[in-house]
Amino acid sequence: MEISIEHLNKNYGKQNVLKDISLHIPIGMYGMLGENGAGKTTLMRILATLSEPTTGMVEINGIDIKRKKEIRKIIGYLPQEFSIYPNMTVYSALDYLGILTELPNNIRKRRINELLKQVNLEHEKNKRFKNLSGGMKRRFGIAQALLNDPKILIIDEPTAGLDPEERLRFYNLLSELAVERIILLSTHIASDIEATCSKAAVLSSGTVVFEGQIEKLLQLGNGKVYTTTILQNELNQFKQKYRVISIYQNGINVSCHFLSNAAPKKEWVSCQPTIEDSYMYLLSSFKQEVE
Ligand code: ADP
Repeated sequence: MEISIEHLNKNYGKQNVLKDISLHIPIGMYGMLGENGAGKTTLMRILATLSEPTTGMVEINGIDIKRKKEIRKIIGYLPQEFSIYPNMTVYSALDYLGILTELPNNIRKRRINELLKQVNLEHEKNKRFKNLSGGMKRRFGIAQALLNDPKILIIDEPTAGLDPEERLRFYNLLSELAVERIILLSTHIASDIEATCSKAAVLSSGTVVFEGQIEKLLQLGNGKVYTTTILQNELNQFKQKYRVISIYQNGINVSCHFLSNAAPKKEWVSCQPTIEDSYMYLLSSFKQEVE
């Protein structure tokens, strides 16, 4: 099982929003990381057959993405802005979507009950959609994307607005589902993919700037992350020179956590990079922001 993308370009008018993308996505959970506007949704929509490439080749399990009907049978998609009629109950909404998915009558009921159990919404099945919490709505979204038991699940920015507990529960669910599937997960939060994915790609302005194991991404910031303490009134100047990731106020001083390519100064303390640090370093080095 594989998603194979070769030299994919997507233009909107004169804007080239995906630039010569080549990726091979294997079974398991795969992260698509990038800032807002990087092109993640555009790529996900192409894979979900909702939008077409301008040039290039995309195959899912050897099936060309142009064969939409066949692709839709093996793909489940959870868009960023998922919604359904707010007054429908969880069960009736899944039943309705199951009919649209052309699930035969005799298996629909059984499938919906299995899914409600899997996403832990059994007790909410008679609740109206509008009365679900953010986390429940996301889990409902997963259930509807799984109705036809797809081999590939594409999920766009799933944790926006979720509290830490709901987020964890959501990722545990995805990890369970990834055993026999490809789950492609887009996010702008690096720590989201560290916890769940073994491989990832990073998109920046429509270009793949990283592809590989998460450990490799984590190591990109090795030797580039420091802390130091400076005076509050030196901060603006410091920020112009270095990519400051976080600051802690301490009276007239501030402690800065920052990135630098320069030879370390004696007052700098080197830090082990977090995934967020390495990701920031990667993006900054492409924009040539880091001195
Ligand atoms: P992301 O999901 O990473 O935030 P998107 O794929 O939504 O990024 O957007 C990538 C770029 O494509 C942005 O510059 C966005 O404005 C542009 N874009 C997205 N969809 C359309 C569209 N339907 N028409 C024109 N431009 C679009």
